[in-house]
Amino acid sequence: FVHYIAKEMTALPVGARVRIEGLVKAKEHNAKRGTVSRASAPEGRVGVKLDDGGAVLAVRPENLERIDDGRGGTRGKGGEGSNQAGESSSLPPPKKKPSSLEPKQRTLKRDNAILREFDGSPDPNLLVLYYHFRDNAFDCFNSSEYHAQMIRYYESGLSVRLVVPRKIGNNDYFLVGLRHSREDKNALCEVAFNCKRSFSGISMLVKQRCFVCHRAGAPHCSGGCRCACYCPGGCEERGRTDHGRLCRLVRESDVTVEEECMQLL
Ligand SMILES: [Zn+2]
Ligand SMILES: [Zn+2]
Repeated sequence: FVHYIAKEMTALPVGARVRIEGLVKAKEHNAKRGTVSRASAPEGRVGVKLDDGGAVLAVRPENLERIDDGRGGTRGKGGEGSNQAGESSSLPPPKKKPSSLEPKQRTLKRDNAILREFDGSPDPNLLVLYYHFRDNAFDCFNSSEYHAQMIRYYESGLSVRLVVPRKIGNNDYFLVGLRHSREDKNALCEVAFNCKRSFSGISMLVKQRCFVCHRAGAPHCSGGCRCACYCPGGCEERGRTDHGRLCRLVRESDVTVEEECMQLL
């Protein structure tokens, strides 16, 4: 679990040259090139005017790879890239993003190999994918390591703020995002970035399987914390020693649970 790399996420200004990649629903646009024509579209997307006929798409920054020199110049195509009339018909007016969602100037790396390796392993010790800051690498927790780490996070001023469903193949996952109460302590999260979610704080990708018997697809804890999964009854009872304290802490936190489940691979 110490390999990956290869991609940058920085703010994309109007005029930046980009290539589209990793779209799940509109696959036909992958690998197309275009020019950023609007820096801020709904849901943090940017408007991209495609080279092949002038359509403007609203695309998440995670699905754009920058292909120019980073100075934002459009070359070769003259003034064609800024057809205001064309884009206003297909994009609603831009909305201001809250500043906490503004990507910071920091390089993040994405590689699907790490998700594939995590997804492919039945090893119960590979239950939770996290990013190890000191080692600069991804690593995994089992259930008791995850619980111990979550308690440490709470003790150092972080709390769970976000739960986001994700899918790799047919397997279900959820991203648990924690944020420090002091906003300046939060930085863009590598794990969330790999899960196509821009999140400032610390997040972990958790397998939707029973934390005790490891049965795939087990439901979330009946306590309503959304941070762990147990078969109702026996397994949940057995998991209570590990889980009880965290469950209470999370239920007292202000957690947003997103409904939209994005397919990662
Ligand atoms: Zn179970
Ligand atoms: Zn719980």
